[in-house]
Amino acid sequence: MTVTPQDTSGPQPVSSRRVLTGLGVSGGIAIGRAFVVDRQFVHVPRHRLENDDINAEIAALHQAVASSIEHLHRLKNQSGARDSAASEELGFLLDAYIHMLTQSRLVRGAEERIRDQNMNAVWAVSDVIEDITGQFEAIDDRYLAARASDIRDVGLRLMRNLTGETDRAFDTAPRGAILVAEEVSPADMARLEPGQIASFVTAIGGAEGHAAIMARSLGLPAVLGATGIIGGVSGGEMMIVDGTRGEVILRPDAADLDRYRQRRDDWLAVRQKLLRLRDVPSETSDGVTLDLHANIELPVEVAGALANGATGIGLLRSEFMFMNKRYLPGEDEQYRELADIVTQMGGKPVTIRTLDIGGEKLALSLQEEMGTGPNPALGLRGVRLSLRRRDLLETQLAAILRASLLGPVRVLIPMVVSIHEMIRVRQVYNAVAKRLRQDGHGIPDMLPPLGAMIEIPAAALTIDALARECEFFAIGTNDLTQYTLAIDRSDDQVADLYDPLHPAVLRLIHEAVTVAGRHDIPISVCGEMAGDPRYTSLFIGFGLRNLSMSPVNLLPVKQRLRKIDLRTAADHAGRVMEQWDSARIAMMLDDFNDLA
Ligand code: PEP
Ligand code: MG
Repeated sequence: MTVTPQDTSGPQPVSSRRVLTGLGVSGGIAIGRAFVVDRQFVHVPRHRLENDDINAEIAALHQAVASSIEHLHRLKNQSGARDSAASEELGFLLDAYIHMLTQSRLVRGAEERIRDQNMNAVWAVSDVIEDITGQFEAIDDRYLAARASDIRDVGLRLMRNLTGETDRAFDTAPRGAILVAEEVSPADMARLEPGQIASFVTAIGGAEGHAAIMARSLGLPAVLGATGIIGGVSGGEMMIVDGTRGEVILRPDAADLDRYRQRRDDWLAVRQKLLRLRDVPSETSDGVTLDLHANIELPVEVAGALANGATGIGLLRSEFMFMNKRYLPGEDEQYRELADIVTQMGGKPVTIRTLDIGGEKLALSLQEEMGTGPNPALGLRGVRLSLRRRDLLETQLAAILRASLLGPVRVLIPMVVSIHEMIRVRQVYNAVAKRLRQDGHGIPDMLPPLGAMIEIPAAALTIDALARECEFFAIGTNDLTQYTLAIDRSDDQVADLYDPLHPAVLRLIHEAVTVAGRHDIPISVCGEMAGDPRYTSLFIGFGLRNLSMSPVNLLPVKQRLRKIDLRTAADHAGRVMEQWDSARIAMMLDDFNDLA
């Protein structure tokens, strides 16, 4: 028997040109020869053990577990030593893999099958993996599907150790090759030398998975979830990957090659030209300066933010530091990660948002306790969870306060609806500061500013009340759109109705900016809208002077704002606010952007 996530022995390669589509998770174009990886196959011999052999088989299982753990530690050290932007992300995942092999359901389940059902060890492991991943996959949830693939990866590693089959070395991929695999795990990526492959394409994988995150941080064009890739191409055949459009062309013809070479050159030229803007001031044509900050999730992304000219971190989504872990990181661990970010930013401000777990963002370590609730987007999330689980909030605030000694920091609270939440958070904040001082941590006399996300209509409409307790605001247009229009932002079925230009959303943003200005409280936008150059003039016209976005959007937005003058932008924003139809608003913005 052979265990593989999906049977790939079926379709044989065809020899004609073929176009596949998948998820374009990392932009750019690569042209090269396929290197097909089929390491997912593990031969699983099955037999029933004699009772006398059971203990020896359990010992063999534990020996294989120990070797797997050691192997993972080696990979971790190796990746830590690499000067790669992705090594930190990889470290988290390898830690999680190691954790899975330490008294986990996987190992316990295999041991039980050996003891109670007399299965040989490799069969027992393969059986327990199928059991666990089957349960995960029965639930239609992208995050759980990603965890199922992690478990499978660990299980296959364990089985290879039991059977003596070693990993098919990724490092045999020839330079410049396009890697084709059922699935690529971050551990696989660790075996690649930087610059070794040009791109990768997989049959399995989602836009939020680790492979996607790493492809982006390594700047490798990548298409995931390209159904038909396995069995569709043979090693050594030519292929083209368009990571921007999510397109893969197998055995391209001469016309394809010409067209895509041109596209690749154009793409590189655009990126190169944008990079020249990195150090020029982000100011309008009439000299009004804007702060362009970056949204990041992990320390590994700081380099990309700085490379794209970020003058600060406007949103650190701290929940991502919790999400891949099976345990809750303690104060010291959180401190180390935050300290790393603050230090790397070298004196530029860092806005750290406290945990916004909940809704579509699940944290493995809190899942059992929280459940998903009947309507997670309206459930126990953001500040509600932090105030319910005071210990989490206290630990996090302590780590932030300690990191604030290393550079300017601001503390941002998500999902706020009332001033009472901010009052309670501030009480905890002050108490944590007092405790740290008593313990001899020299935290700053003036505590870092405490601010609220404006991402729920209630907060936008009562921002004057929040102004009494907040030292800054950040508008989260993603959730503000979701909650204003009652459109679930993660539901594909209503994605076409998700409309941030709806006048209701724009009025809330406008109102929030105006009232914050009246109270002299800094306000920024850090939702996805901030990174869309089509909206830059509107935000400037509203009076915003701080936008925070994904690092890749910083330079396109800077390019846009340098062509805008404040007066014209303000006049135009005024006319936009008189409209009641979002289609008309979109048209007005397009016309305005075409002219400037
Ligand atoms: C938002 O809601 O706009 C936001 C920035 O936060 P997140 O996307 O993390 O919910
Ligand atoms: Mg939000």
